[in-house]
Amino acid sequence: MVEEHAATLRPSGKELVELLDSRGHILAEPVVADRDFPAFPRATRDGYAVRAADLAKLPAVLEVIGEIKAGATVDTALKVESGQAAAIMTGAPAPQGCDAVVMVEYTSRNGDQVTITKGIAAGENIVPVAAEAKRGDRLLSPGARVDHTAIAVAASAGRSRLLVYSKPRVAVLATGDELVDIDVPLAPNQIRNSNTYSLAAQVQGAGGESVILPIAPDKPERLQELIADGLDSDMLLLSGGVSMGKYDLVEQVLAQFQAEFLFTGVQIQPGRPVVFGRIPWGTGTPEGDKYFFGLPGNPVSTMVTFELFARPMLEALAGMTPRKLVFLHAKLKSEIKTKPGLKRFLPAMLSGEFEQAEVELVRWQGSGDIAATAAANCYVVIPPDRERIEAGEWIPVLMR
Ligand code: AMP
Ligand code: MG
Repeated sequence: MVEEHAATLRPSGKELVELLDSRGHILAEPVVADRDFPAFPRATRDGYAVRAADLAKLPAVLEVIGEIKAGATVDTALKVESGQAAAIMTGAPAPQGCDAVVMVEYTSRNGDQVTITKGIAAGENIVPVAAEAKRGDRLLSPGARVDHTAIAVAASAGRSRLLVYSKPRVAVLATGDELVDIDVPLAPNQIRNSNTYSLAAQVQGAGGESVILPIAPDKPERLQELIADGLDSDMLLLSGGVSMGKYDLVEQVLAQFQAEFLFTGVQIQPGRPVVFGRIPWGTGTPEGDKYFFGLPGNPVSTMVTFELFARPMLEALAGMTPRKLVFLHAKLKSEIKTKPGLKRFLPAMLSGEFEQAEVELVRWQGSGDIAATAAANCYVVIPPDRERIEAGEWIPVLMR
C-alpha cells in the first residue's frame, strides 16, 4: 500500500555537494569509470611474477630479472621469459610475459635466483586490465544511497563532488495536552515530549531533513494551524491523537483539509492506530498532494510505525531506489506466547553471531516503555497466526 504511493513520489531538486558531504544523500547521477579498473594488470600478492607453466616441476628455480613496487612506472622493456621471474609487490603492475604471481611464502631467494615450492594456475593473483570495470562503465547508479563504499568508488573515479538529490523536508508535529518540551519545568501530570526528537532522528537517519514544529495541544484550532505549517514541508508526521479517545483529534482536523485517508489502522502491535493519507495541497494536482502519517503517540509505536510505513515514503521522496525492509534471522532463546491476530514487533536483544545468533525478548511495560526499548537492540517479528514460538526456532528480527 505505502509502496504504491511511494512509487509516485519524486525528489524536489538536485545539488552538487563535496564528496564527503554526500554521505547519506541519494545519488542523482551515474558515476562512471574514468579509466579501466584496474588500469594495469594488478598484482594482488607480494611475491614473484612468473609463467605458471614454469612451475610444472617443483621445486622450480627461476632467474630474478627485476623488482616492481606498487606505483612503479610500467617498464615496457621488462618481460618475464620462460625460466625467469620478477619480484613484485601487492598493487604493482604485473610485467609482460608473466601470467601469475606466486606468494612470497612459497619462495626462497638466493641472490639472482628464486626457488619456488608450490605450483600455480595461470591468472592467479593478477587482476587483468578492466576486469573490475571498463572505462565508461557505470559504477554507481542514480537512486543509490551514498555510503562509504560509494564514496570509495567515487573517489577512485576521480569525483570530488557528486550530484545528489535534495533531502526531503519532513515536518514533525507532536500532539497532546500532557506534553512539555525538554527544557520546561514539568508538573507530575505532565510528560516530556520525546517523539518529536526520536522522529527527527529517524527522519535524519533515513536521509531526510526534519522540520520541528511546536507541540500541538489537543485543541482543534491550534492543531489546524500547526498542520497547515507542516504542509509547507514535503511530508508531515504527526504523533499522538489517533486512537479512539475523546481528545484524539488528529483525524478530525486532517479531514478539514480534505484529507484522503488511505488507511486508518493496521493489524500490528505496537502501532495499531497508525493513519496514512494525503492532502491536496499547493498546485492541486496529484503531484502536489502532501502525504501525512498520524503515528500513534506511544513512543515505541511511533518508532516502529515510522520504520514500517513512513521510512519508505521518505526514501522515495529522497530519490532512493525502492528496497524491501531487511530482516535478519536468529534463534529464539526462550519461548514466546502471544495472542494471535496482530503482527508483533517486540523489543529484543540479539546476541551471538553467524549460526550462533540468538534473540530474546526484553521485559517491557508495553509501547510506552522507551527505557526497555533503548536497552534492546532489535525487534523480534511475530507473525499474526502464531500463539507460541518455541525456544530454538529461527525467527525474523528487525534491526534498528
Ligand atoms: P496518544 O496516541 O495521544 O493517545 O498517546 C499515547 C501515549 O503516548 C500517551 O501515554 C501519551 O502521553 C504518550 N505520548 C504521546 N505523545 C508523546 C510524545 N510526543 N512524547 C512522549 N510520549 C507521548
Ligand atoms: Mg494524546
